[in-house]
Amino acid sequence: MKIIKAEIFGLNLKMSDTFPTKAGWRPIILRLTTDEGLVGIGEAGLAYGVAHNGAIGMVRDLVQAFVIGADPLEREVIWNSMHRHSFWGGACGPVVNAAMSAVDIACWDITGKAVNQPVWRLLGGRVNADLRCYASQTQFGWDDGMVPCGEAGAYGEAAARAVAQGYDAIKVDPIMLDEQGRVENPNNLKGALERRILRRATSRMAAIREAVGPDIDIILELHSLTSLTGGQRLAEACAEFDLFMVEEAVNYNSDRPAKLLKQRLPHLRMTGGERIFTRWQYCHYLEDGSFDMIQPDFCLVGGISEGKKICDMAHAYEVTVQGHVCGSPISTAAARHIETAIPNFQIHEHHVYSTMPDNRNICHQDPQPVNGRYTVDDSPGLGLDLNEEFVRRHATTVIEI
Ligand code: MG
Repeated sequence: MKIIKAEIFGLNLKMSDTFPTKAGWRPIILRLTTDEGLVGIGEAGLAYGVAHNGAIGMVRDLVQAFVIGADPLEREVIWNSMHRHSFWGGACGPVVNAAMSAVDIACWDITGKAVNQPVWRLLGGRVNADLRCYASQTQFGWDDGMVPCGEAGAYGEAAARAVAQGYDAIKVDPIMLDEQGRVENPNNLKGALERRILRRATSRMAAIREAVGPDIDIILELHSLTSLTGGQRLAEACAEFDLFMVEEAVNYNSDRPAKLLKQRLPHLRMTGGERIFTRWQYCHYLEDGSFDMIQPDFCLVGGISEGKKICDMAHAYEVTVQGHVCGSPISTAAARHIETAIPNFQIHEHHVYSTMPDNRNICHQDPQPVNGRYTVDDSPGLGLDLNEEFVRRHATTVIEI
């Protein structure tokens, strides 16, 4: 079998009228077609932030150099070509590893369709009967069309709406939005943090714990907005709310801050990983014992092939896994297939973006959690087909190779 055609769709979608962001919501989707007529879809995980055009260009370059004419069943051959022969694949970085991920995921999708099996079965089978999910980023609201929270009471109400839908865990960032629900100036979140920022965060966390009661897990998300000192101070201040995990309290510019934070706060569980790429970067964090749970994004680390390796490596260190999901339904599917098949699965991230209409229109299928749980079915490959009409209507860039 040979790959004979590639299409790259650069989408430009509206996530919410109430919360416009500078960078927008711009998933990058790759569709590969073989000489036998099979198609596979993948995603470069840079729908948010500022990297959309870089990712489109990188996918195009890799596809032209290594993918057209290759056998999609030989995923490791293609991966190693992109890794070893592109020069830039030989280091770790968001753009090159995101593009490699898109190719690898599309090849897994084709492989599943070629043998008429779901990807989760090819990865080892249904180790987990279903996936416990948490409602992610409830500071943007929940089940309300994304109305960002300002007052503490709004944080409690959003979390309570998620719990009413059946979720028994939520994640919230209590510092990124100001009192009016607008994005806080990141310069106000540096250093040891002002007392007013700390007080605003703890009052929001208190409102959430009060609203959801004692049996709901809460992940404190900090988006690497805080420094080592500020992250430590905030995590210490929020510890009284019985946190499930503290996420991204420090940056990833090196592996040192995460190691130091865990050493300073050994009694708190730490997580992170959405900006760590490939097995070679993950090994430092695992060796250091920095994380209790890792969050590899399978559309960023190098795809399903690389993601499965990272998950298995983490297992050897007694570290559990939650795939980071902040993308199109392809990103969700990649996470669900791996999470179903790994013994060290912890919890699945159901992002508020994954509940929004534009995102749910990207594919014909729209699996959503039921009572806070996801299951996978027997559909071959990823189990998704692009909604051609919608995708073409919202694509600002379509490249056919
Ligand atoms: Mg995060």
